[in-house]
Amino acid sequence: MLEIQGLTVTYGPVEAVSGLSFHVACGTVATLIGPNGAGKTTTLNALSGVVRPSRGKILFDGRDITRMSAHRRVSAGIVQVPEGRQVLAGMSVRENLELGGYRRPRCEVLRDMERMEERFPILRDRRYAPAGSLSGGEQQMLAIARGLMAKPKVLLLDEPSLGLAPKLVTAIFNIVRELRDEGQTILLVEQNARQALVISSYGYVMESGSLVLEGPADELRSDQKLAQTYLGQTI
Ligand code: ATP
Repeated sequence: MLEIQGLTVTYGPVEAVSGLSFHVACGTVATLIGPNGAGKTTTLNALSGVVRPSRGKILFDGRDITRMSAHRRVSAGIVQVPEGRQVLAGMSVRENLELGGYRRPRCEVLRDMERMEERFPILRDRRYAPAGSLSGGEQQMLAIARGLMAKPKVLLLDEPSLGLAPKLVTAIFNIVRELRDEGQTILLVEQNARQALVISSYGYVMESGSLVLEGPADELRSDQKLAQTYLGQTI
């Protein structure tokens, strides 16, 4: 579904991503893990078109989209759920959902809003509440639902469990698992490596803008070097 070849992204003198190559297979979850500042968010931003790479190629379903604008990528099916939720705090839950589908026919958007409310009952209960009044976990559900409203072919999920209590972390991972079981292609960025690898088929480990390790998720989960060197935790 996604094929990234030699991606390099710079911010002035800082090379945040350096010649990165990886792929995300159709209907699978791939996880990008690594320490803070490794370049994970920058990679997702380059895939969604929010930042421009200075070198490299992005192929989406075989098509070169490296120069395609961000809004066209949304229409093509590449949808990002950004780190920190970034819901529109002063707008209602429904308005946030509606915005997620802004490039789609209104009749489909209305139908899919109902579906989102079935999937996430809390969003139905709070449909007229300002999004900013929701808890962190509820806002994350809204951010994912808003992303799904765009009918993604590939969903770029940036740190969905960040800052959430353990029970909510589990709820968010269960949602990602459900989406995977429905055949949704997902590229997941997570600090919570163990749980992310449990629901992924393949994992990539980044450090200082480059890949340092990759492999099937179950192999990475039992990799002691990964646990000790790259994540500073037992996975
Ligand atoms: P985190 O887990 O902390 O979000 P990350 O792996 O997602 O980290 P990035 O946010 O992509 O890493 O950052 C990669 C590098 O690029 C870091 O050195 C960061 O300081 C730098 N960087 C990120 N965004 C910008 C920016 N807008 N301007 C300048 N430098 C940036």
